[in-house]
Order: sequence, then structure tokens, then C-alpha cells
Amino acid sequence: MVRSSTLVGILLLAIVGTGLLYVGWHTMSSGAEATCSVCGRPVHAESRADGVVDGREQTFCCAACALRAREQTGADVKISSVRDYELGQALAPAAAYFVVGSQINLCMREHVHMDAHKEASTMEFDRCSPSVLAFGSQTAATRFRAENGGAVQTLAELQDSYR
Ligand SMILES: [Zn+2]
Repeated sequence: MVRSSTLVGILLLAIVGTGLLYVGWHTMSSGAEATCSVCGRPVHAESRADGVVDGREQTFCCAACALRAREQTGADVKISSVRDYELGQALAPAAAYFVVGSQINLCMREHVHMDAHKEASTMEFDRCSPSVLAFGSQTAATRFRAENGGAVQTLAELQDSYR
């Protein structure tokens, strides 16, 4: 009797241990700790952009950061997908509607935490400002703009403002 209960105990431990390992691995691999390839800021699921820079796959904290990288370094930055701000789903950039310069800037919020001694100023340069958020439909973008300000742009219009 003692032996079998010990065996059950060991088995249970093994199962729990394997489960914990899996949860740990899953958390790591799901990109919960992802940071921007360019600026190192945490990547928010709602503003994330993925792209290819000079042939290498990279993840950006937001589309603004990716476009700024192209403008500043002249690198060949291709944005391959952006995230719907409301739904968190990947969108093809060409099919997305972008709200530029709204009052919502997920990257700047982090920035304020990191530089608490600096006064938050709208005049201060920030590579992730003005904010760029993507939406899957013009209706959703327009509704967001009505509440948070900014301008609705297509990818082509957005890229033009970063040249
Ligand atoms: Zn960034």
C-alpha cells in the first residue's frame, strides 16, 4: 500500500512538473516578453507591427517606429503585418486603416514610466509619435478617431508622411 501511494505521488509530481514546464515554455514562446527590434520598448499586442528590414524578420512596437527606422537609417523596411487595435488580429497593412496622431500612444505610456524624471511634453521628439494604430475597417477607424482624435490614413498616405 505504501509503495503504490508513493508511486502515485511521484507520478503526480511528474505530471504537475511537466505541466509547469509547458506553461513556462508557452509563455516564453508566445512572445509575452517581446521587445521592439529597433527601440527595445515592450511590444503591445494592440499596436504591434511585423516586418522585414534588409531581409531580416523583425518585430516593432508600433508601425510608427518601423516607419521612423526607414526614415532615419534608410534601411529597406517592409511592414508585412500590423495588428488591429481593437481585435488584436494581424492585418495586411495595405488593407488596414491607420489612425495617426490620436491621443492613444501605447509606446509613449511606457516611455513616461521609464523616464519619470522627464516631464511629459507633446513637443518632445519621440520615435513612436505621432502614434499609429491600425484598424480592419474604415468604420472602426473613423469611430476611434471621433473619440481619440487624429487622422485616418491608408498605408500609402502614411508612408508618404515619413519620407
Ligand atoms: Zn519601437
